[in-house]
Amino acid sequence: MSHPRWDPAELELGELESALGARGVEPFHARQLYRWIHKRGVTDIDLMTDLSLALRAAIKTDCVVSTPRVVGDESSVDGTRKFTLEFSDARRVESVFIPDTPAMTFCVSTQVGCAMACGFCLTGRMGLVRHLTAGEIAGQVRVLAAATGLLDRSFNIVLMGMGEPLHNYDNTMKALRILHSDCGLAVSPRRVTLSTVGIIPALQRLADEPFMPNLAVSLHATTDEQRSALVPPNRRYPLVELLDACRRFPLKKRSRITFEYVLLNDVNDTPEDAHRLATLLNGIKSKVNLLPLNPAPGIPYDRPDDDRVDRFARILVDRGVNVSVRKSRGRDIRAACGQLIVEGGSQRSAAQQMALLLR
Ligand code: SAH
Repeated sequence: MSHPRWDPAELELGELESALGARGVEPFHARQLYRWIHKRGVTDIDLMTDLSLALRAAIKTDCVVSTPRVVGDESSVDGTRKFTLEFSDARRVESVFIPDTPAMTFCVSTQVGCAMACGFCLTGRMGLVRHLTAGEIAGQVRVLAAATGLLDRSFNIVLMGMGEPLHNYDNTMKALRILHSDCGLAVSPRRVTLSTVGIIPALQRLADEPFMPNLAVSLHATTDEQRSALVPPNRRYPLVELLDACRRFPLKKRSRITFEYVLLNDVNDTPEDAHRLATLLNGIKSKVNLLPLNPAPGIPYDRPDDDRVDRFARILVDRGVNVSVRKSRGRDIRAACGQLIVEGGSQRSAAQQMALLLR
């Protein structure tokens, strides 16, 4: 009787040891296999030359090492590179390499599409197609690191691509553990930032994780009325409760929670909004990252001009808030925040997809 096919790329080191053990293979070979896949980016078992031929044959009989396939690779004038990656079921996501910020950064996706439906985000228009597996999330980092020659270097990871990481909690945390392993890319939690709309029960779980990434919370509005309109999960997890959960969130020494705030012209960028924001964040170890809207077809908001952005930032600074304004990268190739959209499993372009959505 043959075993069902299994996928080593989906397993943490301990699981891989057990899986090999169950197939009569010495568990210490797990480290070799893990190193090939996650550290060297090699997923063809025939190329794993420090495993004996007999062992390679034994492993190969009933396993497939999956890896995302690069089906698109576009470079922006600013050096940003947007990759379109395809999984074994032909679903696709976009993952972005952002160089020199000053670190090298990979922005990866956690879902195909997204269920959160934020009013200014193109990915939100797709709805949720499916969660990514842990191997698919970790695989994006491995494939981008290989493509950019950074497998042996340190880099940052931001979970700010498509999807809501806390809506795919277990797979996301497992992916971070796979990436963290010494036999893999050995990514330190300090180099990982998880960005979320603020799903409170998941935030409470995150607070107890041994692997604790930096936290970014997408705030975007200062009243429940406005936030519920822009970020629908706010109806379930209102501002006061969200900020309370943030206040209680265990922070490492010298670390702060980043609050992301997308600036929509004449909607949430007035001086009153800036003052309310400063008041809300009072007493939270925080910094604010302002994101002037990256416009996209079908998104019913405008990007404020620089004067409005400056006015908003200045009020926060005067109120003692730590502020940065995100320089938008990769806009010419639609790789900027909220501009990632692909139709899973089909060959439609983003423009065709938008046209369908707007019909
Ligand atoms: N689901 C996670 C990660 C999403 S993307 C979250 O919501 O935090 C990372 C950031 O880009 C979020 O703050 C998101 O709100 C923001 N964003 C989405 N669309 C945008 C747009 N069109 N312009 C600027 N920022 C946008």
